Amino acid sequence: MKFNPYDVLGVSKTATEDEIKSAYRKLAKKYHPDLNPNNPEAAEKLKQVNEAYEILSDKQKRSNYDQFGDPNGAGNFGGFGGGGQGGASFGGFGGFEDILSNMFGGFGFGGGRGNRANPSAAQKGSDLEMRLTLTFEEACFGAKKQITITRNETCSECKGTGAKHGTEFTTCPTCGGAGVVQRAQNSMFGRVVTETVCPDCGGSGKKIKTKCDACKGAGYTRQTRKIDLNIPAGIEDGQIITLRGQGNGGKNGGPAGDLYLELRVQPHKILKRKGADVFVEVPITVTNALLGAKVNICGINETLTLTIPELTQTGTVLTLKGKGAKRLNANGYGDLYATIVVELPKSLDKQTKQMVANMAEQIPTSAYTKTKNFQDKIK
Ligand SMILES: [Zn+2]
Ligand SMILES: [Zn+2]
Repeated sequence: MKFNPYDVLGVSKTATEDEIKSAYRKLAKKYHPDLNPNNPEAAEKLKQVNEAYEILSDKQKRSNYDQFGDPNGAGNFGGFGGGGQGGASFGGFGGFEDILSNMFGGFGFGGGRGNRANPSAAQKGSDLEMRLTLTFEEACFGAKKQITITRNETCSECKGTGAKHGTEFTTCPTCGGAGVVQRAQNSMFGRVVTETVCPDCGGSGKKIKTKCDACKGAGYTRQTRKIDLNIPAGIEDGQIITLRGQGNGGKNGGPAGDLYLELRVQPHKILKRKGADVFVEVPITVTNALLGAKVNICGINETLTLTIPELTQTGTVLTLKGKGAKRLNANGYGDLYATIVVELPKSLDKQTKQMVANMAEQIPTSAYTKTKNFQDKIK
């Protein structure tokens, strides 16, 4: 079956970048090797998911796929003879494109020079992705972090061309500088001229005469860089920070790609967080619930004191204003919500039991609203 990146990610053809990203993240998690040890099926799925994302997350590749059914564009279709690269131009058969494309299963037509990416044009570098793990506290209040990335950087000696000083080129002898070669073939449709990208120069029409010393002709060098980051306070798990121009270097003077930094936030041992608000469940003793008390609870970066009023019911939510996380890109802080859970003792000695029995006699049924209502309904 033909590989369809939209089907693989389960998104529509009109899906936005965000929808694609979110679908990708979900599937990448689902088929992650950590969750699927020794599962070749999941590994294969993950491979497909990655492949699909690589296509749909790249504007150029996606548009190529949409137009030509191939992320590399028309230029990468097999020629008519099944051989080399190149969009075929079918002299005189333009009107039959539909028929032909049906017969040949989505062949890229009209793939003349106009549709092929010009290899000499400025090209943006590819994007990089990276994950950064933050503690719960760092996510709530922000942090200074440093990341280390290794990327391809455009060689400054040759401006990314790979030729010495960026100038040591000769005209390609195979295509005479045209960047394409033509081949005439007889086929069932008559005489067909196939125009393919020059296999010698890759379509640029030029060849490097002397290689750049600095990059050995590659046009880029691998560099490891440290980047200092200010992680904004209030960031949440799964959010992505885009660092413009921190990806791989561009070609032919094109800009560098971007670096997508996906943030993972470690869970806290006690606290839960939703947006800027923080939640905690606080067990208290039944006597503290009856008589009231001050108890210590866990804040984000501090120990807080919670005042339990007397006769506090289980499920009561007490709010500590401004004790939540910093609001992302806004002023102020969220709140901390403490849900009270009243705990009974695991055991009572005989004497205490007697005291509780005495207490029970002292408290009229009418003091227990819910219990009383419930019993009244039964009667
Ligand atoms: Zn160089
Ligand atoms: Zn050539």
